[in-house]
Amino acid sequence: MSKSTELVKRAEFVIPGGVNSPVRAYRSVGGNPPFICRGEGARIFDVDGNSYIDFVCSWGPLIHGHNHPKIKGAIVRALEDGTSFGAPTEIEVEFAELLTGILPGVEMIRFVSSGTEATMSALRLARGATGRDRVIKFDGCYHGHADSFLVQAGSGVATFGIAGSPGVPNSLAELTISLPYNSLESVEASLGEFGAETFAAIIVEPVAGNMGLVLPEAGFLEGLRKLCDIHGIVLIFDEVMSGFRVAVGGAAERFSVTPDLATYGKVIGGGLPVGAFGGKKELMSFLAPMGPVYQAGTLSGNPLAMAAGKASIELLLEDKSITRLETQGRLLTDALNKFAAESGIEIVSTVCGGMFGFFFSGDRVKSFADAKESNQENFLRFFHGALKRGLYFPPSAYEACFMSSCHDKLVLEEAISTIASIFREDF
Ligand SMILES: *Cc1c(COP(=O)(O)O)cnc(C)c1O
Repeated sequence: MSKSTELVKRAEFVIPGGVNSPVRAYRSVGGNPPFICRGEGARIFDVDGNSYIDFVCSWGPLIHGHNHPKIKGAIVRALEDGTSFGAPTEIEVEFAELLTGILPGVEMIRFVSSGTEATMSALRLARGATGRDRVIKFDGCYHGHADSFLVQAGSGVATFGIAGSPGVPNSLAELTISLPYNSLESVEASLGEFGAETFAAIIVEPVAGNMGLVLPEAGFLEGLRKLCDIHGIVLIFDEVMSGFRVAVGGAAERFSVTPDLATYGKVIGGGLPVGAFGGKKELMSFLAPMGPVYQAGTLSGNPLAMAAGKASIELLLEDKSITRLETQGRLLTDALNKFAAESGIEIVSTVCGGMFGFFFSGDRVKSFADAKESNQENFLRFFHGALKRGLYFPPSAYEACFMSSCHDKLVLEEAISTIASIFREDF
């Protein structure tokens, strides 16, 4: 028995499903996940001595690859002075100053420890500031696992076909209206149906990465901005995944649409647990202790996490790598398109900055309904063919893939020739 298989058995005995986050468990693709013991650059290594080119990058955070010397150095330096104080520190101010300088519309920012906390807090703030309760989200978008967002959600909720979640009170779920992504008409219809003045917020992944990678159609984000302006609704861009990935300033920069509040996670922590939400001063001032909306965290702004996050963002600003990541993504997806076509397999792929994705489908995917039409059998065949040959992709057709600056020409050439073998031999 391999060591990973042995660990799965031990894990399943003491941790529900053997994992601390559902999609890691490989339930939707079958088989057991490899247990990872080390990462270096573009590669990860499992406890059985296998190595993989990693296109998951810890689900997005590791834009500079694994074990980057500068990020590691920053963490080690911070560690010398202690791990946590629960008191204000200089690095929080420096990092907040850096971020408010580069994130569109973010005049003030507050740090938390995960993306879930960021979106949950942003929604509370929007409700507190407007005095309204309803929220619009979009099918297949994932905003973390707070109660209000587990309605037609993406990521693991999509992977396992769960419509909502037991444990979320109906009285709360009723306040969340989930609509088809890219459909402004359905937003207008819902505002009309329920009364626009009852909506606190519209929250959207401005580039959707939790139903596979789905781009906003031209005019969609602009249209949401306009409707929010007209009706005094808070527009929240959930940039937990797209932030620092599709442009340094996220989708707000890339598509020149500025939200009222934005949420961040993943890349912002450089591989340590960090989330953040920010926006206009006027809105952020509703937060305690300035205002009445309560939000707090024992480990928020933790010095190790701040050091990793700040080092990661500084590196990103230094080497201006987003366009390079996009070129890398294009190289890989061009190869996917080419080899799939040679085998007579339908595929559509998308690249946006340091994110990329593909659906085994004949048509461009614009919504979660489209994503669900894609060919799952071909996905499974590709996924397992890749894994056994040393390419690590997300274990679900409803997840985006990620590039790091370490996925250089040599690494990609290796990945591309492996992809050629998958389509030649397994399809
Ligand atoms: C990952 C993700 C979250 C949740 O972040 P966690 O750190 O896992 O809590 C929220 N929104 C989006 C868009 C995400 O991709």
